Amino acid sequence: MENFVVSARKYRPSDFASVVGQSHITTTLKNAIKNNHLAQAFLFCGPRGVGKTTCARILAKTINCQNITTDFEACNECDSCKSFNNSGSFNIHELDAASNNSVDDIRNLVEQVRYAPQSGKKIYIIDEVHMLSNQAFNAFLKTLEEPPKYAIFILATTEKHKIIPTILSRCQIFDFNRIQVNDITSHLQYIAEKEQIEAEAEALRLISTKADGALRDALSIFDLIVTYSAGSKVTYQNTIENLHILDYDYYFKMTDFLLEEKLSDALLTFDEILKKGFDGHNFILGLSEHFRDLLVCKDTNTIKLLQVSEGVADRYKSQSSRCSEAFLLTALNICNQADIQYKASKNQRLHIELTLMKLAKIKSALSLGHLAEELKKKD
Ligand SMILES: [Zn+2]
Repeated sequence: MENFVVSARKYRPSDFASVVGQSHITTTLKNAIKNNHLAQAFLFCGPRGVGKTTCARILAKTINCQNITTDFEACNECDSCKSFNNSGSFNIHELDAASNNSVDDIRNLVEQVRYAPQSGKKIYIIDEVHMLSNQAFNAFLKTLEEPPKYAIFILATTEKHKIIPTILSRCQIFDFNRIQVNDITSHLQYIAEKEQIEAEAEALRLISTKADGALRDALSIFDLIVTYSAGSKVTYQNTIENLHILDYDYYFKMTDFLLEEKLSDALLTFDEILKKGFDGHNFILGLSEHFRDLLVCKDTNTIKLLQVSEGVADRYKSQSSRCSEAFLLTALNICNQADIQYKASKNQRLHIELTLMKLAKIKSALSLGHLAEELKKKD
């Protein structure tokens, strides 16, 4: 435990098979290697932390591997793979354009490209390529237009729209996905098992949700919470404390109060939430999400949109069965209004309290409306 290595580094995938959530890309790259149809310039686009640089490195290593496996992965044993894994490869160069974006940096690189490698291919990985200055872009363009046969460029960017069309048109473009919560969760599960760390499924799911599609972020949050838990189990409770997230128990409780029209209990619970240091706006947003989750439980087609672990899913389903669709739609509407008007409100506490008052009266309002309709029919 004392030597807990940052998971993001330790569990960086070393072959295509271990890349998480980007199989549409790894399959295409493997096929290109298999059929010897490699482009000379690649552009990897997508949000941060989803594996662009990692895939670029794996691709570079695999292209230069002297003994590619039958599954078209790098062998990790040959001289080329070994020197790459020890960051000593002469054939693979990385440039971070975020910090090396001047025209001189690019001229340097272009100069290097002119020398043929002793064996294999020379591969240039340029990260954050959108950060290159205009001049640098132009200096690079010629090389990209007529690269020597032994050179391959892998460019990566989070901002594809900033890449000039002349560069785009010369690259084979790959769009990386935000990684699904389920994929991140099972990867964290795998790491926890490997590291013999006990972790509750709900804690891992919460970390994955918080990471918003970026595996790298999920891994650093995971590391943080493992450190915080000081070697004991990673629980849902210590995760919400650490990330300062409101326990979903509150949302379940609040919904029950609103369904039973227990306004005073709802107001007291809101007071407790504020006392814990949570912000009213976040509370209303969280409550909206809770209503949304209850609504998707109503239909067997949409239930897959509920992204919680199995144990908690039953709780959602059970509460959902006690809410009418009309209640949930009205509640979502009221919360949405509260969200939009929150910033403009001078008394934000009262603003949320008023919202809770409206929410606690939905049931009466709906049955009144129903009654009115019945009466109309009788006329
Ligand atoms: Zn190899």
